[in-house]
Amino acid sequence: MTGAGIDGSGTARARCVLAPNPSLMTLDGTNTWLIGEPGSEPAIVVDPGPDDEGHLRRVRAAAAGAGRRIEKIVLTHGHEDHSGGARRLAALTGAPVLAVDPAHRLGAAAALGPGDAVRAGGCEVRVIGTPGHTADSVSLLIEADGAVLTGDTVLGRGTTVIASDGNLGDYLRSLDRLRALADELGLRALLPGHGPLLTEPAQALDYYIAHRAERLAQVEAALAAGNRTLAGIVAHVYTDVDRALWPFAEWSVRAQLAYLAERGALPPGLELPGALPGPPAQPLGVQQQD
Ligand SMILES: [Zn+2]
Repeated sequence: MTGAGIDGSGTARARCVLAPNPSLMTLDGTNTWLIGEPGSEPAIVVDPGPDDEGHLRRVRAAAAGAGRRIEKIVLTHGHEDHSGGARRLAALTGAPVLAVDPAHRLGAAAALGPGDAVRAGGCEVRVIGTPGHTADSVSLLIEADGAVLTGDTVLGRGTTVIASDGNLGDYLRSLDRLRALADELGLRALLPGHGPLLTEPAQALDYYIAHRAERLAQVEAALAAGNRTLAGIVAHVYTDVDRALWPFAEWSVRAQLAYLAERGALPPGLELPGALPGPPAQPLGVQQQD
């Protein structure tokens, strides 16, 4: 883990305040992003992180220390390690919480959707729909910096899992969307929800896209070899991954089977993933090498 290096890093308009919640599933911890126009007071916080009083006070202090006032809180998605502190940060700052999922919204004008622009002072952040990790996942473009905040859609290290309400087909389309944007806008940085910022967006996205295709081919090979259970497929495919992560890998295999089922590509006699055992109870978003 290299957490200390991430804290305080960023771009001209975005700065990371690292939350103290490192784990297998959150890498160094959650990256809370403080965003604003240089020299201007109003600021946006993206992903307050977990409900950790010390962290939330540190976010507020970081804003004050930079001469900023937190005007809006935005969520990349509803997972607890990103959203858990939103309500408390809203209470500390008076800022509304803008989210795709109505259950996470708080305050006036709190709806958020693809194509929206969120403004604070002269700073503008554009919402890019990137469902897949979860149904409510968005990325946030700071065009002036050539940077995109990717939440758990793209991580600073390793790859992400498809959560129980996610969808692999959506996820692949979201990666393609970001990849196209990287060329269109000449993106210079991806600012992830966990792990260090990525300064080669096109290269990082190409890796993610290739990794997904490779895993899918491996799952198809595992099926062709006669594996008919999640555990069996995981043992066949995830030989390069720490066994401690295998329960989470089952989550991704489930998403891959659902993807194949949607395309009529499951072998006869295999039940749909919905009938297979449920995902792990831990509702966090990421893992290092799924
Ligand atoms: Zn997540």
